[in-house]
Amino acid sequence: MTANINLPRILHIGGGASQLLAKTLADLEIANPLLVTDPFMVSCGYLERLEQQLREAGIPCGKFADCVPDPTTEAVDQALAALRRGGHDAVVALGGGSSIDTAKAVAVLALHGGAMRNFKTPAVVTSSLPIVAIPTTAGTGSEATRVAVITDTETEEKMLCMGVGLMPVAALVDFELTLSMPWRLTADTGLDSLCHSLEAYVSRRANPFTDSLALTAMASIYRNIRLACEQPENRTAREAMMLAATQAGMAFSNASVTLIHGMSRPIGALFHVPHGLSNAMLLPEITAWSVGASPRYATVARHLGIADEADQNEVALGKLVDGLRQLNQDLQVPSPADYGIEKRQWFGSLELMAQQALDSGSPANNPRIPSAVEIVELYTRVWNAA
Ligand code: NAD
Repeated sequence: MTANINLPRILHIGGGASQLLAKTLADLEIANPLLVTDPFMVSCGYLERLEQQLREAGIPCGKFADCVPDPTTEAVDQALAALRRGGHDAVVALGGGSSIDTAKAVAVLALHGGAMRNFKTPAVVTSSLPIVAIPTTAGTGSEATRVAVITDTETEEKMLCMGVGLMPVAALVDFELTLSMPWRLTADTGLDSLCHSLEAYVSRRANPFTDSLALTAMASIYRNIRLACEQPENRTAREAMMLAATQAGMAFSNASVTLIHGMSRPIGALFHVPHGLSNAMLLPEITAWSVGASPRYATVARHLGIADEADQNEVALGKLVDGLRQLNQDLQVPSPADYGIEKRQWFGSLELMAQQALDSGSPANNPRIPSAVEIVELYTRVWNAA
């Protein structure tokens, strides 16, 4: 079996990498990009720094700074209108996964027209305007994935869109932009990356290329996530988390996510739980349900140092689940009940969530493949799981 790998054409990684935007645009012969970002990036001065860089280089640009968390088709349409008004030839995304995915959707619709729901899986996005991504969370890895997640404003479905047309041509991975992340955001986005790497490694579509990225990323995240939360200015921890997030993105984008992400998207769409947090709510229980189906989970336990080399697989698996429960406790991940989701609403939505999870295709890559009934049972179990 061959592995089909897609990656950005240009990657600049390290402190100050975002200062290479003008050079990157010149290298790609992009003449007039639309900068796509959210209000926080304006208020903290990150956007202005990019604009100044482009002014100095004589590169004209426009901006759309109204991205919303868990981007909607409505926000995408507004950004698309800005792109068309300015006659822009590319998009530059500055922000977390929400800004990057908004920019990706705009780049697709600018070229193809139509509605974003036409591009949700199993459709395949083959082309778009050039996308340059500058991530500010460590995080989704969207800067290096052929994936975008857009919520349909009409149906509230969090749509998974995939294809090489969604891969940024360039990514500027600058950990210095993450130094401003507060405790909760650091924890949530770091847990998202941890899920990406774990899911990529156990995925039925894992391959030797993604394995090495996934293992490297998960160890780095597990070692640094508590530190990055407690010491937001710790450059070593921030740098490790940022690199790992990009590696985890590369891994899952080329191996797929599995059941955790499949079940997480509906929680985000219906109850507006931040993406990393809804993954984290599921992480220990879904892992506990899946571990018996793949010896790879035991490798993960040993690789993270949660289990000893001498431990039998069964012991290692138990330690892995306990270790993930402990991590959730340390990072104060609430259960859906503790998060404040209304019980009636949660239990009234289980079948819909299970169907949306299955429709995304992600659960089919899990080592243990669930039926709709089993997914409903898992959502029930997770409701109160600490
Ligand atoms: P986000 O982009 O939604 O941002 C969350 C909040 O954090 C925003 O208010 C933002 O302004 C703020 N923020 C971002 N960077 C900051 C910084 N450096 N300092 C302080 N505040 C900052 O968060 P996210 O978790 O990066 O993205 C989540 C979205 O990405 C979800 O919609 C999710 O489904 C999607 N996602 C996409 C992929 C992909 O491959 N395309 C993968 C995983 C998740």
